[in-house]
Amino acid sequence: MSPTPPPQASTSPCPTCKSPVTADTASFPFCSSRCKKVDLGRWFNESYKVSRPIEQADLDEE
Ligand SMILES: [Zn+2]
Repeated sequence: MSPTPPPQASTSPCPTCKSPVTADTASFPFCSSRCKKVDLGRWFNESYKVSRPIEQADLDEE
């Protein structure tokens, strides 16, 4: 017999790599801390282009 696949409702796609991520993942909604950093980096790059250079104060918030 084939195993029952996990219910789709318990996962959501990682914003970075589209892999299914379970809600109990530490880095949710990202599949890993690496994907989280990639997404944040992309977001900062977009902000950089349309507004102003990133200042040190912005980086200190994390
Ligand atoms: Zn990912």
